[in-house]
Amino acid sequence: MAFSFRCLLLHKLVFILLLSTARAFMRSPVLGSRTPRRGNVRMMAGDSNANWALLFDCDGVLADTERDGHRPCFNLAFKEKGIDCTWDVVLYGNLLEVGGGKERMTAHWNKVGWPSGYDSDAKRQDLVRELHMLKTNLFMNYIEEGKLPLRPGVLRVVDAAIAAGVPLGVCSTSNDKAVRTLIRVLMGEERMSHFQIFAGDVVPKKKPWPDIYLLAKEQMGLDARRTVVIEDSHIGLTAAKAAGMKCLVTKSSYTANEDFRAADRVVEELGKDEAGGGVSFKDLEALGLS
Ligand SMILES: [Mg+2]
Repeated sequence: MAFSFRCLLLHKLVFILLLSTARAFMRSPVLGSRTPRRGNVRMMAGDSNANWALLFDCDGVLADTERDGHRPCFNLAFKEKGIDCTWDVVLYGNLLEVGGGKERMTAHWNKVGWPSGYDSDAKRQDLVRELHMLKTNLFMNYIEEGKLPLRPGVLRVVDAAIAAGVPLGVCSTSNDKAVRTLIRVLMGEERMSHFQIFAGDVVPKKKPWPDIYLLAKEQMGLDARRTVVIEDSHIGLTAAKAAGMKCLVTKSSYTANEDFRAADRVVEELGKDEAGGGVSFKDLEALGLS
């Protein structure tokens, strides 16, 4: 009797041990990251019939965000604050050499003179901080209201990729909320559900480091050699190539003169239609499978 009780207890202990091991395994980050998220349509490369994948940069690729988004929002912020200043397309292109919005305003007014009344460092810093906050809010509203247009050909290529079951991703180190809002508003919820989005501070080292693309590769279970990245800048191209991926460059307003010699292909834009010389889905597929 005592023996069978001990035997029962032992069986129970073994069962509990096996159960907790299985639970811990199911919760492991490696397995978790590879679990397909069905119901939300996002799938791993292995779930798709296609044997290549397509990743987009956001700024400059999905939309010309600097020219058509940040620039007009800086101008709106200046107007709202009563500052007599307008940045046109050419001037803003030169100002982009200064990284960061606050630094950009400071550099500009240090060069051309500060608005009247802002004669001390403290007042100038307050002005720049206030304008930057205002501009950031205006930019979010701008995207939300659909005022920032998608670049030509983006929807055409996205729709063809969805129809062919090609895994899709967006890899950007810009603000996560801005990237997601842009995709949701400009492409719609249904298309968005087909994308895996890697944005914001998900990696410590931004482009030109390859980290964001390596993260997408790991999380989506991709083969780097069969992944096509669409980028618009030299730093984005460098990141994609360093991750071992193919890269097509669609030049944007402020990157047109950068060095794209490392690219697999360089075009002005994806193009509204294939008949008009746009990049065809077959072209991208051929690049992915080459
Ligand atoms: Mg870009």
